[in-house]
Amino acid sequence: MSSAHRIGSLLTTEGHRLTTGRRAVVEAALASDDLFSVADVQRLVPRIGRATVFRTMRLLVDLDLVCRVRLEDGSLRYRLRVAPEHHHHLVCTGCGSVEDFSDCGVDAVSKTLAGRTKYEIQGHRLELYGLCPTCCVSSG
Ligand SMILES: [Zn+2]
Ligand SMILES: [Zn+2]
Ligand SMILES: [Zn+2]
Repeated sequence: MSSAHRIGSLLTTEGHRLTTGRRAVVEAALASDDLFSVADVQRLVPRIGRATVFRTMRLLVDLDLVCRVRLEDGSLRYRLRVAPEHHHHLVCTGCGSVEDFSDCGVDAVSKTLAGRTKYEIQGHRLELYGLCPTCCVSSG
C-alpha cells in the first residue's frame, strides 16, 4: 500500500472525507522534500484552493501524520512524521535536513516547574538548530 493510500484510509477511518482536493494535497505532501511549506504544496496543486491546502495540512498534523517544524527565522515548515512517539527536531541551518530526537529531558524540568508553580503543564515545544555533519565539513 502506498503512503497516500495509507494516509487516505486512515483519514477515512477517522471519519474525515477524503475529497479529491484533500487527496491531491496529501499526494503533493508525500512528493515534497523533507521539509516543505504550504507554498511548496500549493505549487504542486495549483488548482486546489489555499484554504483546502491549509485545512488538509492542519488535519494531517492533528492526526500525527505530519510534524510542524519551526525554523530559526520563525517560519513554518512541515515534515512527514517519522517517529510516532514524543520527539523534537534538530534542524540544519545549512541544508535544512532534519534529525528527530526524543530524549529531550524537558519532562524532568516540567515536573519541577509544576511543583514550584502549581501549574498543570500540558506540553512543550523545542527545536534545535545547528549544522549537520555534512555542512560542518563543507564549511571547513
Ligand atoms: Zn517530527
Ligand atoms: Zn546540513
Ligand atoms: Zn520533549
